[in-house]
Amino acid sequence: MNEDLKFGRRGFLLSVAAFAAGALGLGGRSWAAGDAGLPAGKKAVSETDTMAAALRYKHDASKSEGKGKSQTCANCNFYTKDNEGWGKCTLLQTGLVASKGWCASWVKKA
Ligand code: SF4
Repeated sequence: MNEDLKFGRRGFLLSVAAFAAGALGLGGRSWAAGDAGLPAGKKAVSETDTMAAALRYKHDASKSEGKGKSQTCANCNFYTKDNEGWGKCTLLQTGLVASKGWCASWVKKA
């Protein structure tokens, strides 16, 4: 086999592996930062979970389509506070949602 071709394939595979590792590493760093203040042993809902994505959920309401501070999970009827930064959502149950989060199903707390 042509040595250039072998190197090319190896280089391509290493590039793909490096890209994947970088992407995972980047996702892990941003994910870890997004988890700050989570109660011990609990995880946050991923913004990319199927249901969360469908509802356009964001941990930071200011980066969402919502109305920023006036509409956050903390003042949503579906939210139950766990600690200052996180709580349970009746609709998104794969983890905790951020008190400063928002999704398209926001309803003013009764
Ligand atoms: Fe937050 Fe309410 Fe949406 Fe649940 S339904 S993610 S508590 S805004």
